[in-house]
Amino acid sequence: MRLPLPPPSVLEQINEAYFSLDRAWRYTYVNYLTEKFEKRSRKELLGKVIWEEYPQSKKTLFYLKYHEAMATGVPVEFQEYLQGMWFEVRVYPTDAGLSIFYRDISDRKRLEESKDDFVRMASHELKTPITSLRLYTELLLQTAKAGTPTGVYAERMLHQIDRLNKLVTSLLDLSKIELDKLDYEYKPFDLVELVAEVAGHPGRWICNGVTDCVTVTTKLKRALVHGDRDRISQVIGNLLDNAVKYSPTSGRITVRLTLDQRRPRQVQLEVTDCGIGIDLADQKKIFDRHFQVADAHGRTYPGLGIGLYISKVIVEHHQGQIWVKSRPAAGATFYVSLPLHDQNKKRRP
Ligand code: ADP
Repeated sequence: MRLPLPPPSVLEQINEAYFSLDRAWRYTYVNYLTEKFEKRSRKELLGKVIWEEYPQSKKTLFYLKYHEAMATGVPVEFQEYLQGMWFEVRVYPTDAGLSIFYRDISDRKRLEESKDDFVRMASHELKTPITSLRLYTELLLQTAKAGTPTGVYAERMLHQIDRLNKLVTSLLDLSKIELDKLDYEYKPFDLVELVAEVAGHPGRWICNGVTDCVTVTTKLKRALVHGDRDRISQVIGNLLDNAVKYSPTSGRITVRLTLDQRRPRQVQLEVTDCGIGIDLADQKKIFDRHFQVADAHGRTYPGLGIGLYISKVIVEHHQGQIWVKSRPAAGATFYVSLPLHDQNKKRRP
């Protein structure tokens, strides 16, 4: 949708830099804050072509995004780092050309970076005590007599330690993703075997009191995938964790493994639950970092909202796809499609 130009009186008072361009990329309006950021007066800029005034911008996201908005007529938003500063930019196509608002978000970015550093350091430091806690609890469980209170408590402790470990691992993975340092060890493995191993892990999946509530169906004998077995296992685990968590009244989860009907030489994994479901508007957003669906009162289920984001990063690293089909109150099916191992193809290291 193309918007009309806002009145100049408003544009001088807003706390954002604002300028407009015509369809020939000439400045038609420059507000006070733009003059301040650019260290150029409006007199110097009005009527001039932006790409001639800032030829170095042709290599930046600004150039790409402004052209995208001008060509499509669809507003765009982005963040870009330029000359030691971070900017948040919103570009609105108008009948005359483009209206552009931007602001300096360097302070916010610095704060986010120090928060990310802290999370990275804290999750790393937490790993060691959790590992020894788990080891001692396992020893306790082995030495306690079955059915005794000590045995029952040790089992519960182990369950909670595993939850804590999963949370800390997710935080660590998230910070690695931000640094583009999530590590993968690619090798061929059988997805049929992995699914059976994760979904069929005795005692791991309990929904509404039903132990071992996951049923696996497949006609495939073998499905060789070239990838990181542990990371794909993490994806399957995330999807099953969610299927359990978001099924507050049902105790049935199915996993199906088939050949992908739409993508040749790909194998498709489906995880279906009969839980609360997700409405259409939220279905795309749930793969975003920290997005959680809230109810009418703004409440969400407990969690960090990063499991699906991490799963998407992992699946896409394997050149695969992940998506969901669902209706509110009618359950959800999450799909993962992965390329089958092709022995003749060159692989990433
Ligand atoms: P978390 O579960 O920690 O909130 P995720 O990234 O795993 O984070 O999921 C993001 C959001 O997607 C969840 O908060 C929930 O709103 C929604 N969601 C995920 N899986 C399901 C599911 N099987 N059924 C309904 N909603 C789901």
